[in-house]
Amino acid sequence: MPMPLWQNAARMAAAYSAVFVCALMGWWFWNAIPGGENPFQRLYLHHQVGQLTRDKIVELSTDPDWCSYALQVSEMEFTPVEDSNDGEFCGYTNAVEMRRSVTDYSNPVSVTCPMAAALFLWERDILQPLAEEHLGMEVARIEHVGTYSCRRVYGGRTGEPSQHATANAIDVIGFEMSDGSIVSLARHWTGDDERAAFLRELRDESCRVFSGVLGPEYNAQHADHFHLDLGPYSICS
Ligand SMILES: [Zn+2]
Repeated sequence: MPMPLWQNAARMAAAYSAVFVCALMGWWFWNAIPGGENPFQRLYLHHQVGQLTRDKIVELSTDPDWCSYALQVSEMEFTPVEDSNDGEFCGYTNAVEMRRSVTDYSNPVSVTCPMAAALFLWERDILQPLAEEHLGMEVARIEHVGTYSCRRVYGGRTGEPSQHATANAIDVIGFEMSDGSIVSLARHWTGDDERAAFLRELRDESCRVFSGVLGPEYNAQHADHFHLDLGPYSICS
């Protein structure tokens, strides 16, 4: 005997309801996981730094359109920089000059788009909270001594190109705090006060955002600065 029409309609309604509930749960699940921990969401700069943030930042180098978009919809102000290539190993693509980030810098910052994204997140979620925690004040200015520089690692004539040769790195020598005092790697790394504690925890925590973090404990060439990069190797020292 054929099924009454009302029964057929009831079954259809139940099936549609189930699909709707599943979709609703999926949507809730998608949004409930913080962006930095969510493998299904791409990187946005309003996401807090989480377990997956560094991998997502590194992936940005293979997705320049998404990187540009992520900066455009963030609070960063920046100007795109024209691509450059010296025909050998130096040059950059999809680079930007950061005009305004979370924190001011002592000199202009022109870096690759992923590096700009990393710096923005680092300033907001790592640098500033640690400054507040250890020193009770904000960092007013980041003192840096360079981003792009056409050279090989340690300036040798042979060897691997430095991440600086592709504007994928920055060297930070210290910080001007909101009270005008200076915290520098050269003077305060080896101390036993809160400035040293701040710098040491900053080195460790920076590894959540950058793939390369080299400081005074790495070697003598880094005695007075943090080298931060997004190179292919994961180094935290
Ligand atoms: Zn460096």
